Amino acid sequence: MAYDFDLYVIGAGSGGVRAARFAAGFGAKVGVAESRYLGGTCVNVGCVPKKLLVYGAHFAEDFEQASGFGWTLDEAQFDWSTLIANKDREINRLNGIYRNLLVNSGVTLHEGHAKIVDPHQIEVNGERFTAKNILIATGGWPQIPDIPGHEHAISSNQAFFLKELPQRVLVVGGGYIAVEFAGIFHGLGAQTTLLYRGELFLRGFDGSVRKHLQEELTKRGMDLQFNADIERIDKQADGSLKVTLKDGRQLEADCVFYATGRRPMLDNLGLENTAVKLDKKGFVEVDEQYQTSEPSILALGDVIGRVQLTPVALAEGMAVARRLFKPEQYRPVDYKMIPTAVFSLPNIGTVGLTEEEARDAGHDVVIYESRFRPMKLTLTECQERTLMKLVVDGKSDKVLGCHMVGPDAGEIVQGLAIALKAGATKRHFDETIGVHPTAAEEFVTMRTPVAG
Ligand code: FAD
Ligand code: NDP
Repeated sequence: MAYDFDLYVIGAGSGGVRAARFAAGFGAKVGVAESRYLGGTCVNVGCVPKKLLVYGAHFAEDFEQASGFGWTLDEAQFDWSTLIANKDREINRLNGIYRNLLVNSGVTLHEGHAKIVDPHQIEVNGERFTAKNILIATGGWPQIPDIPGHEHAISSNQAFFLKELPQRVLVVGGGYIAVEFAGIFHGLGAQTTLLYRGELFLRGFDGSVRKHLQEELTKRGMDLQFNADIERIDKQADGSLKVTLKDGRQLEADCVFYATGRRPMLDNLGLENTAVKLDKKGFVEVDEQYQTSEPSILALGDVIGRVQLTPVALAEGMAVARRLFKPEQYRPVDYKMIPTAVFSLPNIGTVGLTEEEARDAGHDVVIYESRFRPMKLTLTECQERTLMKLVVDGKSDKVLGCHMVGPDAGEIVQGLAIALKAGATKRHFDETIGVHPTAAEEFVTMRTPVAG
């Protein structure tokens, strides 16, 4: 049967655009539907605008520290609407770039919601198209628990478009988004409280990293409340919010921001017209080649709930395009040693195993750890300290994990990730000459283990 398209991609986000462009480049006839915004979550309400706001928040420290270097500044003023307007302008520019990327690579773009009608047919804006393969790349959506008053809370989707900076913010959650946005609000001058239901935030990160970030945020005056969760939110006559915690305490805020995970975006997608199965958590189930239980339908990115990071969605998009249209170049995505950064203030950068994971896996673990005051701060009052940590296998000498909390941690860890991927040993680290004077050189000068 002749189909309208060889591949029809639902969702022009990180993974969908990558798969569509490369498939078209390999000679396939490709269609893409996008219902909301070109570039998806990362470009519009994720990585990119988030990082711009983090840069904005970082200026507070820069101004404070400048006096140590002889600068005198009038009192710094911050205007939220300028930051948001400039951010919006940049995102509009990126939307245009994504449109050009798709169109110039020969992809047919349909702007509208796509619904799967049968395993080879999609409906967009009342029109039906047939496709040999359909790729679900619809991403995720913030999930707010269904507590009384949840409608008064916002998620990251709204935070990027607030008309003004709230004076008092309660951030709920202890993952990437909670920690990053708490840093943004706090840095920009809002009185910020972070509420996390467990003992210590950032579950799954290295224990030293979690503790170190807790100490640094506390030093900066952020109110961290662990073992705390919200029971209800009530709007008061003056528009402010009264928040009742499960332990009975009450807090007041102008904004309650939930960052409690993301669900797969499957709304009105028509999966009931297919044999696509979902896993226990509701994500689309795929095999190692991204095929769902419906042979003509594939899925990737946040909607499959493996690793919700843009570079992972990009790698999966590439793998799908190759698998379908360039099988001789197909290489499976390697999910080991994925480096990641949390753009909290200070940043976290991490790659490989945490100390806890290495011990659980039975490694003969040797730990190297360094804490120091960054050189840039020595002329200032700032007491911030950087943490660097190496997790090493004592038997093979292989470096199993690198972890950092401090300025530019993400930038530094990207390079280390290549070394770890190549199987670097501690000896390789020791024999590598440092770049002086940098913070990064500490990773090649740690000589004495702190724990074995
Ligand atoms: P998405 O990028 O979400 O794209 C899915 C697209 O599908 C969307 O554009 C959506 O509108 C569209 N769509 C959905 N349903 C339909 C339909 N039925 N018809 C047509 N179109 C549809 N990752 C990082 O690596 N680094 C970061 O710093 C980072 N920061 C983040 C910050 C925030 C606040 C958030 C929320 C996420 C962040 N992420 C970050 C995660 C990253 O954004 C995602 O992992 C990535 O965008 C996933 O790509 P995707 O292609 O799976 O989906
Ligand atoms: P995460 O899964 O990272 O964190 C969710 C947090 O919310 C956890 O601390 C979790 O606690 C808590 N939580 C979950 N359910 C509830 C509940 N019902 N009540 C109270 N707390 C709850 O999700 P995020 O929303 O922060 O981010 C989604 C994903 O997006 C991330 O996992 C990451 O993959 C990606 N991302 C990446 C970024 C980056 O690369 N810098 C930045 C932002 C997002 P517990 O640990 O106890 O389960």
